[in-house]
Amino acid sequence: MVTLKDILKAKENISDVVHQTPMLTSEQLDEKCGNKLFLKSEHLQKTGSFKIRGASNKVKQAVKDGATYITAASSGNHGQAVAYIANKLGIQATIVVPEDVIASKENAIAAYKSEIVYCGRTSAERLPKAKELAKKREGLFIPPYDDPLIIAGQGTVGLEIMEQVKDADFVLVPVGGGGLISGIATAVKEINPKVQVIGVEPELADDTYQSLKKGTITSIGPTTTIADGLRSSQPGDMTFPIMQKYVDDLVLVSEQEIKTALFFVMERMKQVIEPSGAVTVAAAMFNKLDVQNKRIVCVISGGNADLRKLQGLFLE
Ligand SMILES: *Cc1c(COP(=O)(O)O)cnc(C)c1O
Repeated sequence: MVTLKDILKAKENISDVVHQTPMLTSEQLDEKCGNKLFLKSEHLQKTGSFKIRGASNKVKQAVKDGATYITAASSGNHGQAVAYIANKLGIQATIVVPEDVIASKENAIAAYKSEIVYCGRTSAERLPKAKELAKKREGLFIPPYDDPLIIAGQGTVGLEIMEQVKDADFVLVPVGGGGLISGIATAVKEINPKVQVIGVEPELADDTYQSLKKGTITSIGPTTTIADGLRSSQPGDMTFPIMQKYVDDLVLVSEQEIKTALFFVMERMKQVIEPSGAVTVAAAMFNKLDVQNKRIVCVISGGNADLRKLQGLFLE
């Protein structure tokens, strides 16, 4: 299992690559929520999401161990992060993307000089392809969340939260495969177990909610939630036990609630964030915790919104 020590090591390892991101606040938002909110702004992170933290921790170690070629399977933020760090460290990377990849994300990966391979439309098709390429060219496959170095890297968000908001009552974290919340919860709970760590999932992608309730990893079918970073079908083998140990609760938000939060943060706070990053603000705005006058940290996990699709989102 990943420990606070691993996360402190990750912090040192990646400090020359990642930004310490700011905590944004809004009196209007606080008034709306009846709580004091702190938005941990990973949409302002390098590559536009927290994914660079885990990816750089993992890839730096791989290069130390002699790797000269890496692969990843991703339609989005993990692919951009892996492409960025490979380019920075001067090694070759291949990112396997879906045939219907969004142009803005493909352009970002290409700008970081990674090779792009198109494969199918689902992660079930992409994953084996990326693993096969790694094997064929004696490289290393970089997983998106189920890996101790990735989890430790994401945990550095938790270290910064504990330094920036000394007396937080709650930390809200979006949950996809569970790498981000596993890292954050480990850091937070091993520094101060009194701080409550709460996961947030869309109602349409409640795989971890169901899994935690049943006490066993449970799969859901394909989902269409607008929070495309949270569309995982089940929690990871490595992340699930960490979530069972450290996550206090998990709450669900509707598609409409996500849109309302996204709109508020964009219009009032002037921040470009993506739907996956808005779920924590949605949980606070619609008071899913049922609390008042508490200090709540909302992790905004990313800002890689497809701007061409935004208008359609709000008109729906
Ligand atoms: C990947 C991602 C998530 C989910 O992270 P997991 O480690 O898979 O739980 C949340 N938000 C954004 C923006 C992401 O890119």
